[in-house]
Amino acid sequence: MAIRIHVGGDVIYPEMVKYTLRTIFFNKQSQCSFVQEQDSAVLTVGVGAENDVRVSPRFLGHLTPVNAQGHVVLEDGTTDFITTIFYYINSLQEYNSRDLDDYGRFKFANSLQCKLNFIDKNFVQQLIENFIGHQPKLSSLAWTKRRSKFFLTHDIDSVYGATKEDGNYAVRHMKFGQVFRLMFNAAFSRPDWLNMDEIMKLESEYDFKSTFYWLLIKDRLNSDYKFSSSKIQRQFKGVADKGWENGLHKSMGGYGFRDEMRMFGSKPAGNRFHYLRFALPEGYDTIEATGIPLDTSLGFSEAMGFRNSYGLPFMPYSLRGKRPYNFVEVPQLIMDRTFFKDRKSVSEIKKTLIDFFEANKYNCVFTINWHNNFFTELKYKGYADIYRALLEYFKDNGIECITQSGIIEEYYKPEMYLLKRDQEVEAKK
Ligand SMILES: [Zn+2]
Repeated sequence: MAIRIHVGGDVIYPEMVKYTLRTIFFNKQSQCSFVQEQDSAVLTVGVGAENDVRVSPRFLGHLTPVNAQGHVVLEDGTTDFITTIFYYINSLQEYNSRDLDDYGRFKFANSLQCKLNFIDKNFVQQLIENFIGHQPKLSSLAWTKRRSKFFLTHDIDSVYGATKEDGNYAVRHMKFGQVFRLMFNAAFSRPDWLNMDEIMKLESEYDFKSTFYWLLIKDRLNSDYKFSSSKIQRQFKGVADKGWENGLHKSMGGYGFRDEMRMFGSKPAGNRFHYLRFALPEGYDTIEATGIPLDTSLGFSEAMGFRNSYGLPFMPYSLRGKRPYNFVEVPQLIMDRTFFKDRKSVSEIKKTLIDFFEANKYNCVFTINWHNNFFTELKYKGYADIYRALLEYFKDNGIECITQSGIIEEYYKPEMYLLKRDQEVEAKK
């Protein structure tokens, strides 16, 4: 039964407060409803001390200050849980950041997660547990938790790069037999990185499925393959025919979503920005305008972990629209390149990842991005082995695989936020 909540008239941003409470209740697999009459409410939320839950009388958007523990606090120094949870889930610290990296991305070094050293913590989940722990009227929610699942994804940036990248590696390491093999395969149109079948075969050994994100634009900034070519189309269709899934890997550099969606053939069920290149809030506005129900770009390329300090897929909130966005964001927690850049050893990477999964057995969807080129054994040697070790770990520990469509089914809940499911939206140029 839904818990009845009254949000007081003195709350400046009632919709934001309701969104946060709905998100908290959803996290706890429960529901709340909002009532006009204070007398019929079980829980009251307001600015004054007479309320069960207090919220700040002021809200400054991305300028909202946090204390040394990373909490938004009330005048008396106690935590304003609602505002703090809202602030993190929606990455408000990233709004209007001027110090972006070369790709136009928010820098990990500028994040609270870096400064307060908690990128590996599901901090919002801890806040939710504390919030409930402080509320005797919500004690029924205290014991609910979800077992973590994992979501396997592959960004397809390059299909023909093996001759060059692996070839250079092979030459440097005097593996001339490999150079010959790479050139032979390229000459006979069987490039090493056109390996979707191999990846699916590996995953099927464990009964897992994944999603492939395709670049539609071939140029210097984007892919080295022509999406419409029969060779790529065969792979693309093969993925869907086998019951795996496809998504759009939105290109960099001035192209609109509309053209790429047309080239994709149908409306993609999901998107990830190439190089995770998007900035907030415009990135969310753009995604919503496409009508694509899922995006999975929210991750730092510099560090693994929780970019918005939250472990589960969620529907973000539009400050400008004063309502939730009509799509689900799936934070990308883990990417092969992060480790490659840091030159971590294979055993070190395996240990880091397994420790991370062990510490987060509940309330997470572990979204993993393993590029197709990281499955070959030259330049990216060892990474296929790590991937297999992760699948092995998930299987041994009974951790469930969730697919792109599974996430949409479980986490895309416009009705919960009183949005229309198929909102008619115009794709932005
Ligand atoms: Zn990419």
